[in-house]
Formats: sequence, structure tokens, C-alpha cells
Amino acid sequence: MNQDTTAYDALIEFLHQAPIGLLQTALDGEITMINPMAASLLMPLAPDGNLVNLFDVLAPFAPGLLDRAAAHDRPGETICDMLQVTLPAIAAHGTLACTLGVRLLMLDASTLMATVTDMTQAVAQQQQQLAAKLRDMSRTDSLTAMPNRAVVLERITHALARARTEPQWQFAVLFINGDRFNRINATLGQAVGDELLRLMAGRLARLVRPGDALGRPAPVELTAARLSGDEFVVVMEGLGTAQDIHGVAQRLIDSLSRPYVIREHQVHLSASMGVVLGTQASGDADSVLQDASLAMRESKRAGGARYSLFEPAMKERAARNGSVESDLRQALAQGELFVAYQPIIGLAGGACLGVEALVRWRHPVRGTVPPIEFIEIAERTGLIGALGNFVLNQACREFVLWKRLLGARAPRAMSVNVSRAQLTDPTLTDQVSQALRGSGMEATELQLEITESLAAQDESVQQRLHELKALGVTLALDDFGTGYSSLACLHQLPVDVVKIDRSFVSQVETSHHHRVLVEATIMVARSLGMGTVAEGIETEAQATILTRLQCDKGQGYLFAKPLAADDMTRWLRERDAAQQRRTQLEPA
Ligand code: C2E
Ligand code: MG
Ligand code: MG
Repeated sequence: MNQDTTAYDALIEFLHQAPIGLLQTALDGEITMINPMAASLLMPLAPDGNLVNLFDVLAPFAPGLLDRAAAHDRPGETICDMLQVTLPAIAAHGTLACTLGVRLLMLDASTLMATVTDMTQAVAQQQQQLAAKLRDMSRTDSLTAMPNRAVVLERITHALARARTEPQWQFAVLFINGDRFNRINATLGQAVGDELLRLMAGRLARLVRPGDALGRPAPVELTAARLSGDEFVVVMEGLGTAQDIHGVAQRLIDSLSRPYVIREHQVHLSASMGVVLGTQASGDADSVLQDASLAMRESKRAGGARYSLFEPAMKERAARNGSVESDLRQALAQGELFVAYQPIIGLAGGACLGVEALVRWRHPVRGTVPPIEFIEIAERTGLIGALGNFVLNQACREFVLWKRLLGARAPRAMSVNVSRAQLTDPTLTDQVSQALRGSGMEATELQLEITESLAAQDESVQQRLHELKALGVTLALDDFGTGYSSLACLHQLPVDVVKIDRSFVSQVETSHHHRVLVEATIMVARSLGMGTVAEGIETEAQATILTRLQCDKGQGYLFAKPLAADDMTRWLRERDAAQQRRTQLEPA
């Protein structure tokens, strides 16, 4: 008995002290036993201090407990597992918000047992973990799992602040963009595009890992991130000297430009980069990124696959381009564009065999603007379609007019430049046949000049070239020797004429190397049945050499500069008269 009493006391003491709330109730929830911890935890739920029936106390948070209890009758059965009850903070009572966990089970046929625990801390911890996960997600790019723009801005902000207090401490922001990435999406599909982005991200991530291939000194901290699309950024904090950046930039470009293998395709993609050095950085993190992207665009303009260091003058240039863009829209609408024509001369006989249409812009303030200043902007902004169509129609109409006006003295062919962006437009072939029909010009009288031989790798462009050839127009490869075109792949292109670039023609007198190249080009073109035109002939000596090398035709200031239509008409008449005088003077 004594022993029992001791054990009973100990049990009571244990229940009394237990750091968990314990209750016993009848089947209707009436409390029959409650320990101090349960009383203190549940008290805030019973503002009148009346802890009589557990179900009544919990009713506002968990209605229907009575019914749930009635549905159970086997001892040990759980009626509800960890019911979470959140109590709001009540300033008047000095209580803080807290969460209770209530568990209810059948003890025997007439008794229920409940446990009440304070889950406030566990819930807070859970919420913190969730918030951290959300924060991570908001700082991670979902496609590549790289840090995203938010992290980049944070790193740059940090670097700007540190550089202000430690002038010796250097940093750099490298803005990277794939060259012609859209072409991959368009030709191989978005899934391949996405995979390519992941592979690029992988290469960048490997390069910026500590002890990496960039061979940086230990204190440099590198963050590689993806901003959007095919835009990536690397932030370098703690550069040794500004000189270090050159090696790093080149290594990044080299690594990104190695071929990628994606689902049996070998994909080639070079990368362009713009670099802002901490010493050139101004404004906030956002404007540093903008400057880096501006420098990246300069790299693209220079042909891609290179890096450029940002300099403030780039901003002025960009502002000028911005105004060109809006002015150009107006120019098209208000008829400020016109076409100039440059004769193409048969080198053997001296006759004017054709003319090339070259667009010009009569700018109300700047005077006549050459195409080099606006064609690229027109391509980038999608205005090239309308611009190209305007030139095409104008040139075809002018050509037919000359035929009517000059008869046999009229040029026999009209060349019109077509940019790469136009070649990807599926409506181009229709536009060309409409221009021919509208003007009454024969397809064989029209020659289209294309520059980009990379076009040959692009299936949709290949298809367009074949469609155009099927119309009956001829194709010329413009600026041969400057781009990716090479003699070895000339036969793969469906072109009829090769135009040798001025940079070769201008050195044909002075450089043996250039003369050999020009000669080889003429020979290969001839063997493939293609005609040849030398561009930019400025001297008699150049004309003589090219004639001797058996180049078919020539074009250049020696014969005539590009002329407005009326001047061209006059030129054609005068040239014909001069030719005739010469024939009359020649001894019979
Ligand atoms: P391109 O098609 O190679 O045209 C030849 C360029 O060389 C013309 O420059 C012409 O004025 C210039 N040129 C001709 N002979 C000589 C010479 O003896 N010496 C020198 N220094 N230059 C000479 P332009 O008119 O400024 O055109 C530049 C480029 O703009 C063209 O190069 C062509 O690629 C593009 N372009 C012109 N008009 C159009 C057009 O309507 N559409 C498209 N897509 N591009 C055009
Ligand atoms: Mg041309
Ligand atoms: Mg050219």
C-alpha cells in the first residue's frame, strides 16, 4: 500500500511537472483531468477562464470534434493527429502569437486523452526554412540553376561600395551574349536552344569555380549568372590589375565558342562580351549592367566572337543610334529614302552592263546619310523588310523606265542588295515576284546580292535562295573575301556571280598576296561557271590588272560614283555618245 501510494504520488508528480500538456476527458469532451502545462497552454483559448469542456474550448478552431470522437470506439485509436491551433497575439493580455499542437485519442470506451504541445518554435523554424527556400528560388534561374539577375545586382552593388572605400580594390562586370542564338532556336527548335543554354551555363560555372581554368589569383571572387535568354554575366571581385581582365575575357569566349553536341547535332555558337571595369563604372548596379551590355553590342557590331571594354563614348553612340531608329521609321513613312545607282562595266568592252541600286537617306538635318549608318539598325529593328521592298520596287520601276527611255543604251541588268534578315523572311520570294510583275521587268534582268555565306548553313535561307532562283532571278555573292565565305565552299552556294570585295581590289596593285587571292577567286568562279565583278575599282592600273586576270566586270569610282536616277540617265546617255565617238574615230 505504502509502495502503491509512493508510485501514485510519483505519477501525479510526473503529470504535474510534464513539459507537455496532458488532459483526460469524457467522450463529450468534458475535462476530467488536466495537468498545469495543459491548463496554461489552453487558458488563452478560454478568455472567461472556464476550462470545462475541451471540445467547446477548441470549437472556434476545430469544429465538429464531438462528432469525430463519436465515430471512434476502439481504445488506442487516434481521433485527430496534431491539430494546429494558432492563437493571435492579444496585446491586452500581454500574450504573443503562438501555435499549439493538439492530439486526441481514445483511451478506453468512456475516456479520451489529449496532448497539447507548444509548436510556436517549430512552426517559426519551418516558416524560416520555407522563406529561405523561396529566397533561394527568387535568386536562382530555373533553367540553368545559376544565380540570377538579383544576385548579379547585389554583387555589383557590393563591389561598387567596396571600390569606393578601397581605391586599390578592382572589380569587373563581364556581360556575355551568344552570337545569333535566335538562329538556333529557329532552326533546331526551342528544346535544343534550352539545352544549349544549360551547356553554356555549365561551362561558365566550371570556369568560375575556385581552382578553375581561369587561373585567377586566390582572392578573386567570381559569380556567374544568367540574366535572361542567352545573356550571362560574370562579376569578378578583387582583380589583381585591370590587365588581368584580358586573359579572363578571352578564355571565357574561347571556352563558350567550342562546339556543343546536342542530340546528335553539332552546334556552333560564338559569344560576344562587353566588360565594364570598376574604374569605368558609374551610377548604380543597373547602369553598370547597361553599360556592359552596350559594350557587348559593340562586340557584336564588330563581327562577334570578341570582347570590348566599355568606354563612355559608347553611350553617345548608342544615343545617336536610338535617334536614328526613330528617325528611320519616319523616313520610310515620309519618303526620305531614295535609291542611287552605280554602273557595272564590262571590263573587256567598256559597256555599261548593269547598275547596282544603293539606298540613300535624305535626312532633313544631316543631309544624305550613307547606308552603313542605318542598314544595320533597320535589320535589328525589323524595318529592313519595308526598306528592302521599297528599294526593290523603286529599282525595278527605274530599270523599266530606262529601257523605255534609252532602248539599247539602257543597262541590261539591275542589282539589288538583300540583307540576311530579309532572307529569313518567308514572304521575300512573293515580294520579288510582285515587284517584277508590278514593273514589267523580266526576272532574268534582276540580280540579287547577298553577303552572308553563313546563310548557306541555314536551311530556311537555303530554301529561300532556291525559291528565288526558281523565279529566274540571278544571285550574286557580295563582298567576297571579307566574311565567312571561302573559295572551298563556293560551290555549295547557288550563286551565279561573285563580287570581289573592294579591300582586295584596292590592293591588287601593291600586294602580291592580294593579287594571288583575286586571281584564284576568278579562276575558281570561272571553273564553277560563275561570273566575276571587281568592286571599288578606283584607278586605271587596277582596271588593267583585273582585265588581265580575266575578271568579267568592274564597278567603282573610276567609272562612276553612285548617282541619283536622273544623273544616272544623263551618265548613260553621255557614256553612249562617248563610246560612239570613239568607235567613229577608230580606224576602220
Ligand atoms: P555593297 O553592296 O558592297 O555596295 C558597294 C559599296 O561600295 C557602295 O557603298 C558603294 O558606294 C561603294 N563603292 C563603290 N565603288 C567604290 C569605290 O571605287 N571606292 C569606294 N571607296 N567605295 C566604292 P554604299 O552605297 O555606302 O553601300 C554600302 C553597303 O550598304 C553596300 O555594300 C550594301 O551592303 C549596303 N546597302 C546599300 N544599299 C542597300 C539596300 O538597299 N539594301 C541592303 N540590304 N543593303 C544595302
Ligand atoms: Mg552590293
Ligand atoms: Mg560589296
